[in-house]
Amino acid sequence: MSIYLDYTADTPPDERVLYEYMKVAREQFANPNSSHSAGAAAKKIIDVSLEKTAGLLGVLPDELILTSGASEANNLAVKGAARANRRRGRHMVSTFLEHSSVSGALTYLQEQGWEIDLVSILPDGQIDLEHLKSLIRSDTVLCAVCAVDSELGTVQPVSEISRIVSGFENCRLHVDMTQAVGKIPVDLSGVHTASLAPHKFYGLKGSGLLYKAKGTVIEPLIHGGASTTIYRSGTPDTAAAAAMSAALELTFGEYEERFERVSGLNRRLREHLAGNSRVMINSPDDAVPHILNISVRGIKGEDMRRLLDDKGVCVSVKSACSVPNTPSRPVMAMTHDRKRALSSWRISLSHLTTDEELNSFMEILDDIIENN
Ligand code: PLP
Repeated sequence: MSIYLDYTADTPPDERVLYEYMKVAREQFANPNSSHSAGAAAKKIIDVSLEKTAGLLGVLPDELILTSGASEANNLAVKGAARANRRRGRHMVSTFLEHSSVSGALTYLQEQGWEIDLVSILPDGQIDLEHLKSLIRSDTVLCAVCAVDSELGTVQPVSEISRIVSGFENCRLHVDMTQAVGKIPVDLSGVHTASLAPHKFYGLKGSGLLYKAKGTVIEPLIHGGASTTIYRSGTPDTAAAAAMSAALELTFGEYEERFERVSGLNRRLREHLAGNSRVMINSPDDAVPHILNISVRGIKGEDMRRLLDDKGVCVSVKSACSVPNTPSRPVMAMTHDRKRALSSWRISLSHLTTDEELNSFMEILDDIIENN
């Protein structure tokens, strides 16, 4: 049996979420875009699911757009804002902490002639708000930040960022909430668009969500075919919408016990690692306890990942979708230490992680460090 410590990349679906998915997939298979009664019944499930999801997020149901995951939601937010606002300005601001579905969309825009500026990261992992203020201009149409980054687990001050952005008439705020859901309280006030994906909180892969505040203008990425929303054509997955609302309800409902459990595991792990002089902890002290990014002097992150995998432990070097054998961008931006960024890797914990798993992992890690 392997020891899975990569819950930031993916979480196992909760049985109750799977049950909901199976039930709806079996009973409501008609196309929700069809106008007959079976289609209307499927559409009703989507409406009810979105109402529930919106209620949990404190927003309106018609502010939610179903997508195939957070990558699509981020692309829709970034490229959709670019297309809709190109006459107002062609400048965007973002950070070194973003997932590749944000940074890649921005690079794509840069290749189309857009100007992109990245905010500096302070030694404590926080976005430099003074630098952010100095970067936003009258032609800046989007500021894209993550609420929690996937490599270090830093928590960014979204409400302060929102206050800064609100001082600029043309600028909108996109927040990648993908790693925030289930790890910190979610607050979408002052945010124009936000993305999330239930496979990060014990839901299913292949489904995601873009929140788009009323009045925020974006253009769709996919054209052709009317659907439940003008922003995303294609047949919406009724069962996935129901499963997403179930996963979100469970995540919010069980937030405190889960958080406490993970905090305890993180404390034990940090205490253990503090005793090893070759270990440098990269995640700030106030990062979410679910993510612990470390570097071991003299061992590259990718080598460590392989050595651990050989012993049955699954961890990640950077996020699952990034380029291998390059230094971690977030660790580099925070520490300015290339060697440290090259040897960084991520342990991610869950309330499902057992004490036995953590003990075995710590033993295996000590052994690897001693012998390499
Ligand atoms: N944003 C962040 C912060 C992530 O961690 C991830 C996945 O690792 C994504 C976006 C992409 O999510 P998805 O795999 O659902 O496209």
